[in-house]
Order: sequence, then C-alpha cells, then structure tokens
Amino acid sequence: MPGPGAYLAGEEERKEVAEVMESQYLSRYGSEEDPRFKRKVITLEKEFAKRSSTQYAVAVNGGTGAIMAALTALGVGPGVEVIVTGYTFVASISAIIAVGGTPVLAEIDESLTMDPEDLEQRITDRTKVIMPVHMLGNPSDMDRIMAVAGKHKLLVLEDCCQALGACYKNKPVGSIGDVGAFSLNINKTITCGDGGLVITNSKEFYERAFGFHDQGHHPLRSGVEIGKRSIIGINLRMNELTGAFALGQLKKLDTILQKLHVRKDRFKELIASAEIRGMSFRKINDPRECATLLTLIFQHRDTAKSIAGALGTKTVSESGWHVYNHMEHILRVTDNQGNRLFHKHMLPQTDDILERSINLSVGVVDPGLGAGFGINILSDDKEIQKKAETFIKIAKRFIE
Ligand SMILES: *Cc1c(COP(=O)(O)O)cnc(C)c1O
Repeated sequence: MPGPGAYLAGEEERKEVAEVMESQYLSRYGSEEDPRFKRKVITLEKEFAKRSSTQYAVAVNGGTGAIMAALTALGVGPGVEVIVTGYTFVASISAIIAVGGTPVLAEIDESLTMDPEDLEQRITDRTKVIMPVHMLGNPSDMDRIMAVAGKHKLLVLEDCCQALGACYKNKPVGSIGDVGAFSLNINKTITCGDGGLVITNSKEFYERAFGFHDQGHHPLRSGVEIGKRSIIGINLRMNELTGAFALGQLKKLDTILQKLHVRKDRFKELIASAEIRGMSFRKINDPRECATLLTLIFQHRDTAKSIAGALGTKTVSESGWHVYNHMEHILRVTDNQGNRLFHKHMLPQTDDILERSINLSVGVVDPGLGAGFGINILSDDKEIQKKAETFIKIAKRFIE
C-alpha cells in the first residue's frame, strides 16, 4: 500500500533506468570524460535543489540517512539535545540517537505538527537543534518555530520526509530552516524504492552532509582524497539506478500534487457539507500542503473510536506508526546514569489530539498510519462520492 508516486510509476522511470543499464555506470561517480556516463545522481541533486529553491542537495540512500547526515552537518553528537515531536515516524527520533545526540520530545497541536509554544518550554542549555516534522504532508508552523529558533540561537532541521512538494508561505519545505531532509521510500509523495536527499543553502552544512554520506570526502570527489578529509563519514550513497528512477518520478511531482489536491478538495467538501456535529478538520498551516491525507478531529475520543471501528480503521493514537507510545524500543532508551528518557503518556496534549483523530487516505493508503479507509490518487469522482457517503452515514450513526 504505497504512496502516490508508486501508483504512477511507468514508462518514464523505465527509460531513465534503461539509460543507466546501457551505460554500465552504476555508481554516482563515473568518468566525466566518458559521454556514456549519464550523471543521474548528480542531475537529481541539481534538479532537486532547483525545485527546492536551495543552493545545494546531497542524494543519499534514505530519509533516515538524510536526517543523520543533516544532524551531523549541524554538529549534533553526544551531549547535544534535539527537540522533535512525539508524533512522527520513528526515524526522526532514532536518527538523533544513532548520531549520539539526545532526542527531547515536544507536543503537537491540532495541525498534528510541532506546537511552537510547547517547543519553547523544552529548550535547555544543551539544545542545539529544533526538528519540526511536516507530518502527513502538512508544513509545520514555521514562522513561529523560526522565531523561537532565532530568539534562542538554535538551528532548524526540517524533517520533510512526508512533505516533498509542499510549500509554506511560498517557500518549498526544507528551504526555510538551516537544512531539510527528504525520503523517497515507497510510502512517500514520490519514490525510488528507497532514497533520500538533504538540502541546504549553507556551503558548510553541504560539505559536512556530503562528507558524512561518503567517508568524509569533499563534494563530487574525483579520485582519492587522502589528507583532505575533515570529517568522519560513513556510506549512505545513492547509486545511478536509484537516481535515474527518482529523476523519472521527480518529473511527475507536480502532476501528483495536482491530482491529490483535486481529490482531497472534493472529498473534504463532500464530508464538510454533511455538517457533522463535533467534528472538525485538522489545522492546515498552508494550503500548499501535499494533500496526501485528510485528518478529522472529533470532540470526543469515544466517538472517534467508534467511527474508526465501524469504518474498519483505527484512530491515529491506536495506529501502529508515528505514535511515541507504541515505540517500545525508543521507550527503553536511557541516559548514561541509566534513567529512562521517555515514558508512555508523557505528552498528554499529543495523546488527547491523536485519540480524537482519524486519518482518511487521499494519496497515502496505509493502515499503519490509521489511513485504512479513504480514496487514492486514481479514485474517480464516483468513488470519491461513494466513500464520502459511506463515511457520513457511519459518522451520523454515532453522532445523531
Ligand atoms: C519516512 C520517514 C523518515 C525516514 O525515511 P526512510 O527513507 O524510510 O529512511 C523519516 N522521517 C519521517 C517523518 C518519515 O515519514
């Protein structure tokens, strides 16, 4: 049950990948003099940076790797705290731990993204980075988050893994903070199976992210660079086959977003017209979100639970992914004195909102995030109407 890009994969991606197979250059590094070398990964980086209005991009093997490279670029390591939300994919949190940093969990608000007011309460003298996560395609409240960051001189890493293509006040997500991290895994707006990107306007952060992703080398290395490596890196490289597929998908991004918006608008309008009492839609921080999901928030959690059950889906709080309460491996993490950093129900505001929320699918069809009911990017108007009617009939059974 993949994201919208996977539904539309076809001839364009096949052509891009075939070019790489014919060239026999499979690594991102090839002979610049040889016209057979197709430079797919380098081209993807250029195109992606252009589209994101940033100067630099580094392609990596996944969103988790992108966050790790971005955190390392910003200087996160042992003793450094990063503030992130308790409602996110586990990778936002595990990537901080993997580079040696300490995650500090903050509450979400009714946009299902970081609550800027709560964020400010979590800042300590060890905080260095704020990591807003643009959840389910909806940009975080970046004006207020950037204001908090400015006031406390903190860096901002936007986790854009679920929001490629979204804009906040006319700026592409990822270009507002200091660094942005993206995923191209199978559930995202566009995909290449697995892949990711880091974007930034800072030459320093770019060089550090690039170095981390490839054994400390400088960007676009050619040959061996003994004596010149300024950072210890690992290998998170993207290969040419993956880069080629991603280029094919990137060309479809605008079509995908347009299709999603048309369907979401229609679905939402039909559901809104039923004027279901005690039900509202989640707060959208910018209309140029991705429109991958439609989230409903009920006044009472029992109503949400009953309606979700009757639809054959779950409330967001009970869905498997994205909820810190269900991350048993994260809940076990301790500091060096052996004290647990997290515990279940430590974020009452997040718990309350998620218990009252239901995600309906529009482009990302995934029961794991509670979106087991809804439409998809290929749904026609008849299907959208049918799904809206089913929803309204069931909701009214529990409300009126
Ligand atoms: C998907 C996702 C990631 C990780 O991406 P992978 O490509 O699966 O490693 C990180 N953060 C968020 C919010 C995500 O949704």
